[in-house]
Parts: sequence; C-alpha cells; structure tokens
Amino acid sequence: MAKLQIRKVGDEALRKVCRPVDAITPRVLTLLDDMVETMRTANGVGLAAPQVGILRRIVVIEVEPGEVIELINPKIIAYSGEQDGQEGCLSVPGRWGMVKRPMHVTVRALNRKGEEFEITGHELLARCFCHELDHLDGGLYIDKAYAMDEDDE
Ligand code: ZN
Repeated sequence: MAKLQIRKVGDEALRKVCRPVDAITPRVLTLLDDMVETMRTANGVGLAAPQVGILRRIVVIEVEPGEVIELINPKIIAYSGEQDGQEGCLSVPGRWGMVKRPMHVTVRALNRKGEEFEITGHELLARCFCHELDHLDGGLYIDKAYAMDEDDE
C-alpha cells in the first residue's frame, strides 16, 4: 500500500465532477487500499478520490475504527431529518465550520466485488456520506458552512 498526496483547497481536481467507475480493475482495488492508508495516516474519517487527484466516483470512510466503508459510484437514495455540526476536511487543513446536514442518509453503491449494496448512516456517518459524496461533484463543505473557525498557529 502507498500513501497518496492529499490535494489542498485551490487545487482544481477538488472542483471537478468525477466520472463513474465502469470496471473494477486491479487499479481500482489498489486505489481503495491506498486511499484507506492515506486517510488513516492523516487521521481522517473519510476520503474521496478527487482529494488524491483521481477523478473517479470512489469514497472510503472509517467513522468507527476498523470498520472501513468503501463506496464505488455511490448515490444518496434517501435522507431525512436534520443536524447541525462542525466539519473539517483533509483538503482544507486547520479550518472548521458548521454545516447543516440530514440526520439519516441511505447510500447505494458498489463494493469492491462489484456488488450493489445499500447502507444507512446516522449522525456522524450520515454527515460523512454527504461530505464525501459532495467531493465527487466538486463540492467542498466550505461552500455550505457557516461560522468558520481556524486553528490558532
Ligand atoms: Zn473533505
């Protein structure tokens, strides 16, 4: 596995609409593994492929340590409720902001075997689904955030 370089705000890869994955090749599997390692090394709970410069619809999430969720071509198919909470992003270091998100979010995606599955997240996981899927369409949480905060350095 290899640690990938995380693109930072201002990098145009973060503003592109990503293409779907049409075949789960060994390259896609390697990318998933490398994204998980990169996310863990950076102490993140989620990472989207454009954050490492790959314009494909791939996301990895690890809200519960040891429970990695890999999403290929994910789509939000249902959501409900509302929550306000603070978000940060590995591509926007040192900054935080409040974002309104749904409380419950159901995503349909492919797993690494190419099988379709659905997963429902609540609270932080629901927030994470929304944040990471926004990345696939060039969205950053700072577009939606209010009350931005910066780390003192
Ligand atoms: Zn992010």
